[in-house]
Amino acid sequence: MNDAAPNAAPQTFYLKDYKPFGYEVESVKLTFQLSPNATKVHSAIRFTPKADAEDNRFFLHGEQLSLISAKIDGTPVTARLVEGGLECDVPRTSFLWEAEVEIDPAANTALEGLYMSNGMYCTQCEAEGFRKITYYPDRPDVMSTFTVRIEGDEPVMLSNGNPTGAGEGWAEWHDPWPKPAYLFALVAGDLVNHPGSFTTKSGKDVELNIWVRPGDEGKCAFGMEALKKSMKWDEDVYGLEYDLDLFNIVAVDDFNMGAMENKGLNIFNSSCVLASPETSTDANFERIEAIIAHEYFHNWTGNRITCRDWFQLCLKEGLTVFRDAQFTADMRSEPVKRIEDVIALRARQFPEDGGPLAHPPRPEEFQEINNFYTATVYEKGAEVIGMLKRLVGDDNYYKALNLYFERHDGQACTIEDWLKVFEDATGRDLSQFKLWYSQAGTPRVKVTEDYADGTYTLTFEQSTPPTPGQPEKAPRVIPMAVGLLSPNGDEVRATEVLELTEAKQSFTFEGLASKPVPSILREFSAPVILERETTNSERAFLLAHDTDPFNRWEAGNALAKEVRVAMVLDGAAPDAAYLDALEKLVRDDEQDPAFRALVLSPPSQSDIAQTLHERGHTPDPQKIYDAAETFTQTLAQQLETSLPRLYAATTVEGPYVPDADGAGKRALNSRILSLLTRLDGGEQAARQYASADNMTQQYAALAALMKAEKGETQSQAFFEQWQDDRLVMDKWFALQIACAAPETTAATAKELTQHPLFSMKNPNRFRAVMGALAGNHAGFHHASGAGYQLLAENLIALDSVNPQTTARMCAAFQTWKRYDSKRQAQIQAELERILATRDLSRDTHEMVSRMLSA
Ligand SMILES: [Zn+2]
Repeated sequence: MNDAAPNAAPQTFYLKDYKPFGYEVESVKLTFQLSPNATKVHSAIRFTPKADAEDNRFFLHGEQLSLISAKIDGTPVTARLVEGGLECDVPRTSFLWEAEVEIDPAANTALEGLYMSNGMYCTQCEAEGFRKITYYPDRPDVMSTFTVRIEGDEPVMLSNGNPTGAGEGWAEWHDPWPKPAYLFALVAGDLVNHPGSFTTKSGKDVELNIWVRPGDEGKCAFGMEALKKSMKWDEDVYGLEYDLDLFNIVAVDDFNMGAMENKGLNIFNSSCVLASPETSTDANFERIEAIIAHEYFHNWTGNRITCRDWFQLCLKEGLTVFRDAQFTADMRSEPVKRIEDVIALRARQFPEDGGPLAHPPRPEEFQEINNFYTATVYEKGAEVIGMLKRLVGDDNYYKALNLYFERHDGQACTIEDWLKVFEDATGRDLSQFKLWYSQAGTPRVKVTEDYADGTYTLTFEQSTPPTPGQPEKAPRVIPMAVGLLSPNGDEVRATEVLELTEAKQSFTFEGLASKPVPSILREFSAPVILERETTNSERAFLLAHDTDPFNRWEAGNALAKEVRVAMVLDGAAPDAAYLDALEKLVRDDEQDPAFRALVLSPPSQSDIAQTLHERGHTPDPQKIYDAAETFTQTLAQQLETSLPRLYAATTVEGPYVPDADGAGKRALNSRILSLLTRLDGGEQAARQYASADNMTQQYAALAALMKAEKGETQSQAFFEQWQDDRLVMDKWFALQIACAAPETTAATAKELTQHPLFSMKNPNRFRAVMGALAGNHAGFHHASGAGYQLLAENLIALDSVNPQTTARMCAAFQTWKRYDSKRQAQIQAELERILATRDLSRDTHEMVSRMLSA
């Protein structure tokens, strides 16, 4: 077992050390003899030494494998087992390597490599899981065709590519597309399929299947439609067609990530594919549609063109997140999608970029690559591509993408390759733009303005605070989308993109009749923090008049933050003008319900804490909580007479359809219901709970009741109704902690860890409980320290079961330097306790060390 390394400093890998593998892998043939505790894997791999190899060392990765035999060209050889794999003396001409190993899928609770989930065999090989299946050069730049034979008594046995034969107790598969080992997949078990089909634009018929456990067949239709829409969209927008006869998706209950894009055989966390109106909320439906699209889009951006090494992870992830966001914007509402993405970016990526775990989208070193599947690599990686598209324009963007697919199909590439296609397609020099890939931290852009004699000047100053290992930063290229409004609300200058390239830079606008109101960073054109002295009345003006929907929301959001900050710092009462603006907006039936719901959703308490921290204050979680409560209660009272009418007007009648329109109305309706529940003692929510025929409305009613401490009966009923549905039970677990008052949050979470349905082996359930604990800001950061202690205890317990999920959840502590010295000392003690754990995994060791050393 070498996942649990001793607590000595583990090996660090550097981008600058990259060297190609010294051998071509011509073909791979694998035979699996399945058995829960003793699966035998036979590999037959043809290697050819590269004539120009810098390094002839024949090293194959391998972890947790029992080597039974090794042969070269049919003759037994002795391989030397070394740290992380094996070495062997090999011929200087093409040769056939054969090895037989035994592995133990049932004991594999780390869920990397081949493992078992509810009696079903499945794999997860990205990033470095294939080395737990057999000895292999497990690196993304080694690509080969795979032929797979599976022997076992499972009714369904699947692998990548196309089926080439099957009989009693065996099945064979061949994938004609060369791929790295991280895209290998195998699934075997008692599964049923929801079938579908798609005809590509060149007329090829593709068979589609979603494979699930018997009983889940009724939850596949939405996912299947999402898959077909994704296939069509990628043809229409990017001209990219699917390239096999078959596309399989499998739902798995125990899975560390959301889903995995294995060639022709996507494996999904069941929470990211199974959907029905009775068990899934609108948010679940939207997420499922996006994740199915994301994994499908990887077929080109990830699989056909892959990454040279794991430092380039954002090459495939940033681009694919960007593509799935484009897809969702096209399927649903573009402004709503943009607002949701920015909320998520600020909640997840900005704290990462501003704390001890900050790293550039392309990191230059790591100990455990699993720790770099981060918001920075994914979401900031996508923002960087959005900026690139804005700078070169739409036509040039698609021109560059066509060149990328033409030039690099079948290759393992780098960020340099990616930027080069843009340079070649547009003639533009992107050397300064490239800093976005190498510099960590969120740039701050300070804006000042000046107006005289019809000329308006905006001056921008950019700077980026130091991050670990990067004390100094150079100015970046920042596309700043700006529009100007006249004082009566007309747009006097449509959006234009100003290109910031200097530390300080001014732009002038001539011929204006009066001083305009600027609308800056429209559509959130760059992932930066804008600093500008302005007034609440100007924010309220933009909330009412801005012609850019994103900035209208942003004005309301900024206003909400100012009001909260004033309440926290000065004990001020909720701002009357803001309450009036909100009331006006919420009652304006001309406005999109989804937009109204977003404006009515307050900034998160963690966001307020971050804002206070950025302004040099020490956030007090309890005060932030109290301000939020006071504000919401005051808003409910202000709206008291309109709430029943608004509730009725926004209730969606008729059968549930998970589309954007209905979802927007239900989101607004749920916000209204939560306000109403503060005033009517829960009467309306109890009625909605009793009559709801879909999860969105049932869950909204339950949440409103529990938040008001009036939901005990309904919570019990919900449990009884859904206790056999794992995904709905995850909601039940999380909701109790999310709704708990600060002083009872940790105790509630602790009690739930004693519940018979709590499990360390199911990442979804663990995240439902511990994620909800970390997400309840005032509860997690309660002065008693009980929240910190409970999370640390559970992370220590989980580490020996599942290091990857443990390490990822350690990030809940990453904002620790924001808080007062007492809380810092409490968190530090917990981090040190985790680090001192015997046989701590290298995943967790790296994360905790980084947080402590900053
Ligand atoms: Zn991805």
